[in-house]
Amino acid sequence: MVVVLEKNVSDKQIENVIKHLEDFGFAVHKSTGVEQIILGAIGVKPNFDTRQIKILDGVAEVYRITEPFKLASRSFKKENTEIKIKDVVIGGNEVVMMAGPCSVENEDQIFAVAEIVAKSGAKILRGGAFKPRTSPYSFQGLGEEGLKLLRKAADKFNLLVITEVMESAQISLIEEYTDIFQVGARNMQNFSLLRDLGKTSTPIMLKRGLSATVEDWLMSAEYILSNGNKEVMLCERGIRTFETFTRNTFDLSAIPVVHKRSHLPVIADPSHATGLRDKVLPMARAAVAAGADGLMVEVHNDPEKALSDGPQALLPEQFEDLMKQVKLIAEVIGRKM
Ligand code: PEP
Ligand code: MN
Repeated sequence: MVVVLEKNVSDKQIENVIKHLEDFGFAVHKSTGVEQIILGAIGVKPNFDTRQIKILDGVAEVYRITEPFKLASRSFKKENTEIKIKDVVIGGNEVVMMAGPCSVENEDQIFAVAEIVAKSGAKILRGGAFKPRTSPYSFQGLGEEGLKLLRKAADKFNLLVITEVMESAQISLIEEYTDIFQVGARNMQNFSLLRDLGKTSTPIMLKRGLSATVEDWLMSAEYILSNGNKEVMLCERGIRTFETFTRNTFDLSAIPVVHKRSHLPVIADPSHATGLRDKVLPMARAAVAAGADGLMVEVHNDPEKALSDGPQALLPEQFEDLMKQVKLIAEVIGRKM
């Protein structure tokens, strides 16, 4: 940690800051710059609250050098984490497509969409059976019946399954049907859910919270990792900003930012990020170009009648086109799809 002192700091204030740092267990090195005195506080304390120093008289700025997340960090593990599920590897050279409807609605719908996405090269079927809806009056999902249909449709077309878990009480039921647990944006900081998922051995995709910083997001991944489950991937799905022309603002730069800081795979979801189907293709291309290890895209056989997120669902032929285009982008950057 680096502590920059104010220009007019008194000797007494300097002594006081040094004493506090030493009492917290840091070794302190003082260096006098041209204009300001800088204290180097040495000691690894990932949980240290820097405000404890920031509030002292004479302190101008405090900068943390070590990251508060440990198991998720690139400094802890240099090589990329690869998550192998049956014959699919997430986080390797291949860019993996997860696609399907927002919600599982009925047997005909999920089988039709599974066939469409499998034919175009998707490896993983998505679909919510338990839906986190903003309104309690909106369709909440089919529950266990939805899980059964999703599994059956995926098995028929040789796809893996990803579906959302909203609360700890659902873990054991959903685990029977899914290959990957999805933690939705609204649950990114549901710490008891994260802790309980950390005790399972099923891979987890952790979506970024609506107003979460990258650090918040990685700290949430840390909850899962520190409870034992190392198969964690992250998903950038847009964050809330002042912009209203899209549902959220797709934070594409989060992809290389996370890749630098963390060894965990990063998936990108241009459907929830933009909320409009005509924006999904360009942003999917951009996400692959930015280095995403996979995409999650909503597709529907009849979006006008969809029970949730119809306006952002791709039509079958749009999905086919998207697959062709992102495959080309992947090849340009030396990856496969
Ligand atoms: C979803 O993928 O079904 C979903 C609800 O997304 P998010 O949590 O990103 O809003
Ligand atoms: Mn959706």
